[in-house]
Amino acid sequence: MNVLIVYAHPEPRSLNGSLKDFSVRHLEDAGHHVQVSDLYAMKWKASLDAQDSTAWPADARFDASLASKEAYETSTQRHDIALEQEKLRWADAVILQFPLWWFSMPAILKGWVERVYAYGFAYGVGEHSDNHWGDRYGEGAMAGKRAMLLVTTGGWESHYGPRGINGPIEDILFPIQHGILYYPGFDVVPPFVIYRTGRTDEERYGHIRDALGQRLDTLWTAAPIPFRPQNTGAYDIPALTLRPDLAPGEEGLRVHIAKE
Ligand code: FAD
Repeated sequence: MNVLIVYAHPEPRSLNGSLKDFSVRHLEDAGHHVQVSDLYAMKWKASLDAQDSTAWPADARFDASLASKEAYETSTQRHDIALEQEKLRWADAVILQFPLWWFSMPAILKGWVERVYAYGFAYGVGEHSDNHWGDRYGEGAMAGKRAMLLVTTGGWESHYGPRGINGPIEDILFPIQHGILYYPGFDVVPPFVIYRTGRTDEERYGHIRDALGQRLDTLWTAAPIPFRPQNTGAYDIPALTLRPDLAPGEEGLRVHIAKE
């Protein structure tokens, strides 16, 4: 299988750096092919702007979606964007690896998503009408591929538990797992989260590495998070609200995950 690791940490000698190197070795030893987009090492340009569309007229008002659409359709995107899209096409599985920074991904990784997820590639795919709001949430260019988050946090596991002060980790990661990964079609397997990283010594590192190895071994077989697909009848159209008979009386992020 082909695995793409999109990795966002500025320091190769960090915990994240060690775990990224471990993942590459572990996957390759198991016979998989691995590419790493090491965003800081690549000096990835994080901000989406008019320079991303090489044919966009210099004096024209910049319209981010339209410019992305035209550049994608006419192969006039900046080369760095096209290269990352090619890696995504190549990959059978994608791992986004990052330290949790202000309850989200580091800005450089968000910038990777904003620029690589072009109109026509990751959004604006398929029929758009009142009856069919695009091929997304379970459909799209990444359908059939798997994705997993590998996240480190300073906070404790209890801080991210069901009643933890930071809010449940599933809710914090929802915009990434549902909005960024499931939206263009990935099957998203549960995240591998390492809490309380400040308390990591050699012994704990060994346990983390073993647990990560096991998760990598089951990347292909683990049950994905059962997010509800958009286009198979669970949502009333055109409002795209969950049918009242599904998760009756409930609201919020979790209603979009089917209970099995
Ligand atoms: P490091 O700092 O590199 O390492 C952590 C520990 O692991 C150290 O003790 C180190 O000695 C040890 N270690 C590293 N490599 C090895 C190895 N090979 N073997 C054995 N031990 C090793 N946390 C939250 O919970 N929520 C937030 O919203 C949040 N926001 C943040 C925002 C910013 C801007 C920053 C800088 C930090 C934030 N944090 C937050 C904390 C952050 O998530 C953690 O600092 C980060 O996840 C730790 O990962 P690291 O790779 O940088 O670890």
